[in-house]
Amino acid sequence: MSRAPASQPELSAVDSSPLDEFEQATPGQALRLALRRFGNRAALVTAFGAEGMVLIDLAARFAPGLRLITIDTGRLPESTYVLMEETRRRYGVSIELYFPETRAVEELSLRHGLYSFRNSIEARRECCNLRKVEPLRRALATVDCWITGLRRDQSVSRHDISRAEVDETHGNIIKLNPLAEWSDREVWAEIRKNGTPYNPLHDQGYPSIGCAPCTRPVRAGEGPRSGRWWWETAGSRECGLHLHPSQ
Ligand code: SF4
Repeated sequence: MSRAPASQPELSAVDSSPLDEFEQATPGQALRLALRRFGNRAALVTAFGAEGMVLIDLAARFAPGLRLITIDTGRLPESTYVLMEETRRRYGVSIELYFPETRAVEELSLRHGLYSFRNSIEARRECCNLRKVEPLRRALATVDCWITGLRRDQSVSRHDISRAEVDETHGNIIKLNPLAEWSDREVWAEIRKNGTPYNPLHDQGYPSIGCAPCTRPVRAGEGPRSGRWWWETAGSRECGLHLHPSQ
């Protein structure tokens, strides 16, 4: 599906309400507003981490019918699949799974084996690009507004995210981060309050959960994303899903 990139002025013309409306909304209100304004062209995109589960639970109450998209890299922990299925049944939602291109995975494994991502940052990024970034690009070609569970205190590279922004990387669509200012404590208070299901790996020292071979538990005092690609230096530890064009 092709979409003409919307520059900031075009966006204002299409959208009578400014991004400010999303900035001022509570997370639940932001989800409702996204669904009202964009309908089937809005989607919550999640890897079923703690923040994603908070948003799924809020969507069930504030924005039933909001699309739910995830990227299945083919290397996820079993507990993530179990949680996806629990989510599907409990909330009565359809989960749109986007997979990597089969041929690309076949060729990568043929050329470099199954653990090429340990060889270098470039090799790791090649795997992330193929298994995550490309499927996300395809998924986002179907929306004008995507919603994430990003929070500012998750990592240095996320310190300056806004609740609502224009995503230049993906054709100037709207990107909402309704939990941008939330703390980890607030996320877990919300989960406990509502009895929201979550990945049991969180109770085993995994604050951030990605692909099984690239995620490990963190020790006390370590950053929440320090268990991701732990063999790399801290500055390189993003998979490319949320990079700003300047990064
Ligand atoms: S997190 Fe690891 S296994 Fe998953 S796509 Fe990235 S490099 Fe590949």
